[in-house]
Amino acid sequence: MTQEAVRVRVRDSNNATEEGDQEFKNTNFLSILATEDRDFLLSATGSQVKISELEGKIVGIYFSANWYPPCKNFTPLLVNAFEEFKSQTPGFEVVFVSCDEDLDAFNNYRACMPWLAIPFSDLNTKKNLNSRFDVEGIPSLIILQPDNYKVDEAIHDGVELLYRYGKQAFPFTKERLQELQEREREKHENQTLMNLLTSQNRDFLLGHSTSKLVPVASLKGKTVGLYFSAQWCFPGVKFTSRLISIYQKIKEVLLENGGEDFEIVFVSTDHDELSFNLFFGTMPWLALPFNDPTIKNLTKHFDVQWIPSLVILGPDGKTVTKKGRNLVNLYQENAYPFTEARTALLEKQMDEEAKSLPKSKYHVGHRHELTLVSEGSGGGPYICCDCDEQGLGWAYQCMECGYEVHPKCTKSAERPPGSDRQRS
Ligand SMILES: [Zn+2]
Ligand SMILES: [Zn+2]
Repeated sequence: MTQEAVRVRVRDSNNATEEGDQEFKNTNFLSILATEDRDFLLSATGSQVKISELEGKIVGIYFSANWYPPCKNFTPLLVNAFEEFKSQTPGFEVVFVSCDEDLDAFNNYRACMPWLAIPFSDLNTKKNLNSRFDVEGIPSLIILQPDNYKVDEAIHDGVELLYRYGKQAFPFTKERLQELQEREREKHENQTLMNLLTSQNRDFLLGHSTSKLVPVASLKGKTVGLYFSAQWCFPGVKFTSRLISIYQKIKEVLLENGGEDFEIVFVSTDHDELSFNLFFGTMPWLALPFNDPTIKNLTKHFDVQWIPSLVILGPDGKTVTKKGRNLVNLYQENAYPFTEARTALLEKQMDEEAKSLPKSKYHVGHRHELTLVSEGSGGGPYICCDCDEQGLGWAYQCMECGYEVHPKCTKSAERPPGSDRQRS
């Protein structure tokens, strides 16, 4: 599963007018959950609950849809948090704003939600809420505090906060979030290889040699990549074979030069031990044991939201970058040691090289002419349509089709005879 493209746009072109916003800031937000002839929401059992009963509670407005896997993944997490906090003070309530396709889908999805919902048929209210809160993708969880049910003070990243901090994010106040950020900063400052990779009962990693167990302490002083991946994830399997070849090249160069060393530790999210063993069997590096509790902590600590992901730690155990995968795709073995200084140098080189690239070209994989773009000129992070890997910086792009490829992935072609238009 790759989640790069997870955020489906649901923004409505029908944005609220400035005048409307102004008016809205001055009203109790609860009123926009109602209509002229409806002052209630639907409970989990389908009964009517007066909107006024939300008064005094922290309210999460949850935009979600049954058909979309990232929504379905998040909903159980929200259910857990809801069950725990609904009867605390202040209470917690969730209002589901459905982006489902039809009433059946809505009802199916509702069956796993213990909270309230806007009736499916009330398209207008759903549309208004979408534009009020400027919802750009789902799942989206907007949090409103009882003392200021104001749009401009709403917290928009409830989904990210729950993923990141779990139940600790509650009650989502500014003070609470600041405290969590501060705690996290401290944790990262005090981060060492030992406290990241060992646990009370384990000070070793799995290896392939006869001894099989490799002390974590033996990694001290090395640049270490934490590789979050799993065999069930197709991009993970694909990226693994690329990473193996690059790992071996980096090791070769380091061996020649002596001194520094590089290691990778597989952090598996495989579903069963057999898949783990099979997948790890293809890798030349070390691994945390299958299902080790450390894995969950690492995922949280580095806020890993999708796999494959490669987090790079420096010889002192501090985080160098969380974008290891991207850097490997862009610069291959040259990315080592992944530091900011190294990346800046490579970026400069790439800009230099791009000067000699043609401004536009035909590529065998696409029937329209492609234009060279950089981040500054219409580019941005993308997924290469040729190798399916992440890209950043320079790209060849067909704007009309949303087709983008790494410059290194293009294979020049003549203007295909079948191409139906010439791009200016
Ligand atoms: Zn590519
Ligand atoms: Zn095209």
